[in-house]
Amino acid sequence: MVEWESVLHEAAERVQDVRDRLISTQRGTERIGQGAGGDITMRVDQEAEEEIIELVKQKGDVRLIAEEHGESGPKDAKWTVVIDPIDGSSNFERGIPFYCTSIAVLRGKTLDDATHALVRNLVNGDTYYSEAGGYSTKNGAQIKTSALEDLREATLGIDISRTTLPVVRSMNSLISSIKRQMHFGANALEACYLAEGRLDGFLDVRGRIRVVDLAAGYLIARQAGAVFSDERGGALNPAISVGERFSVVGAANRALHARILGKLKAGS
Ligand SMILES: [Mg+2]
Repeated sequence: MVEWESVLHEAAERVQDVRDRLISTQRGTERIGQGAGGDITMRVDQEAEEEIIELVKQKGDVRLIAEEHGESGPKDAKWTVVIDPIDGSSNFERGIPFYCTSIAVLRGKTLDDATHALVRNLVNGDTYYSEAGGYSTKNGAQIKTSALEDLREATLGIDISRTTLPVVRSMNSLISSIKRQMHFGANALEACYLAEGRLDGFLDVRGRIRVVDLAAGYLIARQAGAVFSDERGGALNPAISVGERFSVVGAANRALHARILGKLKAGS
């Protein structure tokens, strides 16, 4: 039996050490190639991921889905570990204090098969953790999504970068109805903000979010009360791979989720 809770916390500690060592060095942001997920790999991404992989590999029958190194290990492994070593690397590079490490353990082939998830805010050390069948915590204390149901009061995390005109049109009705649209640049941590009620929703309807970005935050937010679907209300069922991209609509509760979907359906 693998003690995933302690493995994930140890991995997060090691990533924190990498970040703390490289934070104000030029070496940390040195560009050393392109990761399997398509983004530029910086030194900090690579070193953080190597720490996680080294630790996780010792646990035996594991398949790895890692943003920088890609996919490795047997396809029929008992466990799949989904890793984004630094989510929000470009914030790290620019000195914007919003980035995290994100690790999820899956016992199956879908996002819903996540059994353990950890996201650590590498700026302040806040650590979000959840296990399937349990509840979600921040620094050990239970967290819950917001109870807000009124769309006009809602603050939603929505990534609209590199959005095409048809997608902008599809979001027009929604964005003109809400109190505030935000995007902080690290999806895993934004999903945790949804989990703890700082955001009322979390959306990417551009079809661009990746499994490495969402796997951990998805379990943490769901077990804190969040409701998720694709942009049309269907179940999320992306292939568990580095390259897969999809859309997601997450909300703090069922009523708000239905209202967001209604606005998306209404389009412009
Ligand atoms: Mg990353």
